Formats: sequence, structure tokens, C-alpha cells
Amino acid sequence: MSPIGHTITAFAMATTYMRISDVSWGQGFSSLPRVMMSGNLANIDYTAFVTLVALGMLLGARGPDHLEIPRFNKRTQTRRSVIPHRTLTHWPPFWVAMTAICWLTLSASDDFLFYEITSVGLGFCAAGWLHLVMDIMTPSGIPLITPFGTRTSLNLYKTAQTGEWLCILLFVAGCQIFPKLVD
Ligand SMILES: [Zn+2]
Repeated sequence: MSPIGHTITAFAMATTYMRISDVSWGQGFSSLPRVMMSGNLANIDYTAFVTLVALGMLLGARGPDHLEIPRFNKRTQTRRSVIPHRTLTHWPPFWVAMTAICWLTLSASDDFLFYEITSVGLGFCAAGWLHLVMDIMTPSGIPLITPFGTRTSLNLYKTAQTGEWLCILLFVAGCQIFPKLVD
């Protein structure tokens, strides 16, 4: 999926998460500075937690691509990265480990800063999973068995073509309907 596609779908997911959690962006953003300034874990309420997770989702929209540490060479117009594209950071077990680390740290942490970071981390992981789902539908696919092995693809759409926009449209529409179904 193209970068803009990942951004739109992650934003739709974050907004849906806020809606089903009954917290508005306005409410979240207005309470967050007070909570963060306090530095006290007891002050992190439900609204602050949901907002931190949603912010993590926005940050993680292109998480699997950014974690590759990419460099774009303007002269040769090529993209190079420290970790080869669509390998380790697009491998589901990597995200299982990341999610588990965030979840366990969050439940065990009694430190204010750790709690905040892992709340954002949980949202980041959720967006990472969404990114993987979107990428497995493209012809390049993602590795499922070994991180640097053969990639699996569902071949449902091609990046930056009409099919991708249809997929984005369906996902955003689904995000609009989902909160009404669970209400
Ligand atoms: Zn990707």
C-alpha cells in the first residue's frame, strides 16, 4: 500500500477506536496535557489512556516501513534501508513479540513514563498489524514463515492503483459503520 493509504487507514482506525471508547479527540487532547504535567500514574484516567493509544495508532501508520530505517537517495532516486524492505519488520511474529512486550510492560508498570510510552506502543502495534494486513493484499506480500524468506500475497490490489483506493474506501466505510454495530 502507498504511504498515503497507510496514513488514511490508520487514521480511520484511530478515530473508530476513539468512537467506540466514547472519547472525542477534543476531550482527549484537552485532558492529556494536564495528565502529562502531573507526572502521577494515578492521574492517568480512561480518557488519557484511550487518547495515548489512538496517538500511537497515528504514529504507527507506517511503523513497519519506518522501522526499516530507510534512506532515500535523491540522486539515484532509489530507496535503501538498513533492514531490507518487507522482511523482518513486516513479519507477523515480530509484531506478536512487540505487542506482547507492550502489553506485559503496561500491566506490570507502576512508572508514569513507562505507562505512557507503552500505551502509545500498544496503539503503534495495532497500526502495525493493520499495515501488515494492507500489505499482504498487494502483489509483493509479506513474509509469513521466516522473516527473510518467501513472501505470501493475497493479490487483491496493486499499490497506487484504483484497486488500492477502493480498498481504502471500503475500510473507511467499514470504520464508519462499525461503531454503530457495537453500540
Ligand atoms: Zn509496508
